[in-house]
Amino acid sequence: MGQDDEIKTMNEEAAINAAFQDILDIYLASQHRKKVELITKAFNFARQAHKGVRRHSGEPYIMHPLAVARIVCAEIGLGSTSICAALLHDVVEDTDYTVEDIRNLFGEKIAMIVDGLTKISGGVFGMQASEQAENFKKLLLTMSEDIRVILIKIADRLHNMRTLEFMPVNKQYKIAGETLYIYAPIAYRLGLSKIKTELENLSFRYEHPEEYAKIEKKIEKTQQERDVLYSEFTTPICQSLEKMGCKFYIIGRVKSPYSIWNKMQKKHVAFEDIYDILAVRIIFTPKDIEDENNECFKIYNAITRIYDAHPDRLRDWLNKPRANGYRALHATFMSKRGEWIEVQIRSERMNEVAEQGIAAHWKYKNQGEADSSEGQLDNWLHTIKEILDDPQPNALDFLDTIKLNLFATEIFVFTPKGEIKTMPQNCTALDLAYSIHTFLGNHCIGAKVNHRLVSLNHVLNSGDQVEILTSNSQHVDASWLTFVTTAKARTKIQAALRRQKRILQRDGEELLAQFLEKEELGNYSNNIEKIWKQHNLDSREQLLEAIGSGSIVLGSDDKDALLGNKKFRFPSFSFFSRSKSNKPTAEPERFDTVDRKRPLNITDDTLHSSYIIADCCKPIPGDDILGYYDENNRIVIHKRKCPIADTLKSSHGDRILAANWDTHRTLHFQVPIMVKGIDGIGVLNEITTIIYQELGIGIQKMTIESKDGIFEGTIWVNVHDVEEVRKICDTLKKVKNIQTIARID
Ligand code: MN
Repeated sequence: MGQDDEIKTMNEEAAINAAFQDILDIYLASQHRKKVELITKAFNFARQAHKGVRRHSGEPYIMHPLAVARIVCAEIGLGSTSICAALLHDVVEDTDYTVEDIRNLFGEKIAMIVDGLTKISGGVFGMQASEQAENFKKLLLTMSEDIRVILIKIADRLHNMRTLEFMPVNKQYKIAGETLYIYAPIAYRLGLSKIKTELENLSFRYEHPEEYAKIEKKIEKTQQERDVLYSEFTTPICQSLEKMGCKFYIIGRVKSPYSIWNKMQKKHVAFEDIYDILAVRIIFTPKDIEDENNECFKIYNAITRIYDAHPDRLRDWLNKPRANGYRALHATFMSKRGEWIEVQIRSERMNEVAEQGIAAHWKYKNQGEADSSEGQLDNWLHTIKEILDDPQPNALDFLDTIKLNLFATEIFVFTPKGEIKTMPQNCTALDLAYSIHTFLGNHCIGAKVNHRLVSLNHVLNSGDQVEILTSNSQHVDASWLTFVTTAKARTKIQAALRRQKRILQRDGEELLAQFLEKEELGNYSNNIEKIWKQHNLDSREQLLEAIGSGSIVLGSDDKDALLGNKKFRFPSFSFFSRSKSNKPTAEPERFDTVDRKRPLNITDDTLHSSYIIADCCKPIPGDDILGYYDENNRIVIHKRKCPIADTLKSSHGDRILAANWDTHRTLHFQVPIMVKGIDGIGVLNEITTIIYQELGIGIQKMTIESKDGIFEGTIWVNVHDVEEVRKICDTLKKVKNIQTIARID
């Protein structure tokens, strides 16, 4: 070992020791029982287990478990069991030690958590499930046993996201996509709002680096303006609260780049049009902890004496906390400058729960107060368990179902007896029926909402009183899947449909056997295969179902097929690339040999010959894109923000490839643009003149509808790239009667 190496090793050892001491210091300052010995034992064990191994960043591997343990302790507020499990979380996966070893050394609890955190391989959940989806499944299974598993997993993910720069770009997309798709929503659901925001922001930064930089720069540029607004707005509030003898502090909260971007995308507005970038947070020490809700309202009243409150924007999360445990009073006031500003009023304890989620909850749990959000969390975990108990044959379905259950904001509805039920926003009467009981759902024919008869797909609103109507003759229908919004309803409907399918298949099997016998054809699997292929079906099961339901009646054609009279067969249906016309002419490299670390370079020549443009999101040059290596050895190009690509990142992440545009405006792409505005003479004429004559861009087609003086329409333009779309939008925005204009994704 050279002298330099020796110095390096010494420095590294010192850094490792310092990182560990830092954790101990934070732990000792917390309210947890002091189990320093056990934590030290876990540290020493992990340190020697990972010895000699380095991360992508070049750091000794042990720095990662240390960082995760620090997050678990300092940012989530968990105790010794979790700190030990965090220190040990990669030992079983990356070294020769087994869960058994951990159990012998550290006991059942820690071993169970480490086991839950260890990835699995092999087809435990069925052949179709991808490894990633299986991992989530295992994670969630263990999570419903012990919530600390998922909390540590989130800490692990947070540290991996913080160090994502050291990963190759295709891995960055996979990890960032997965984070946005599943980890950030779980963090939110568990009330870890600070961590959720950081995860979203980091994902955004790696998936759309340019957009991120642009927004960050704009936030910086407008900061001074906001500082002035903030101090003008808060000075009178502070004076008034001080006069009341209130102990408080007040801070300005700036919206994160990701949520700004998200809002810009969703509402089709520019950065400058987002009015709630600044919010004001008042955090107070209650005089009497039992009376903190009242004190929130007292502060609210004091502010209403200074500013006018927005009549529709008072949010009482005190009496009805969010399902993740969040409590606060939100109100929006008109500043003297004529801008609406949201004020969030919380006690110290509410603030801690808002930032640390359920972990902080546990801290206060023993202080003897009834806690409704605790029960909410149990309910949620129970639902997750139910989903897991119901086997889902398809990995993507499973991910979607779990995701459905993560995102919801809640509404409150009442049963006829006046009982209150929490439901996700946008849920239907049928969702409510399923949430009460599977039988009610399966036989639901409609509902009475506020004594008025409504259909199954009626969307419920907060405060509705709902009575579910059933009939024994009602049967589950596949079309129900198109409108239900809760995971529970979805899984139950799918299960019922699978049952119905099995019955049809049994009937079909019988009819098929009769047919083969009557025609004196053998009941062999290759005969049956010929029949399903002749009907353009994908499997024997599909054939049996079609026969059972009567949609296929076996006849002479089938006999011909078996006797070898060949017929034309339609190509089979493929989900990710619907049109076969754009099938690449050149064979791309094979998945197993392609260099996945090298980004694809997409040129005018190779675009159509080597790649497929995804039908779901139709990217054009200038869009942030990625490649997906599909099952048929084709590379499909998706937008990085495409929802289908998000699912792929989370389920088949190792098939994601980085991709860059290298096109030079020789190809045209059809792009739909949405326009909305006030109808007036000549508006349409003006639009077409600007696009066609002023900008010299071709219009493919146009549909416009006008109603009550408002027009809304779609224009398909022929453009080279995103730059031209932007030019169209910027120019048309200046037309007097146009209110919204945006590319349709
Ligand atoms: Mn890890």
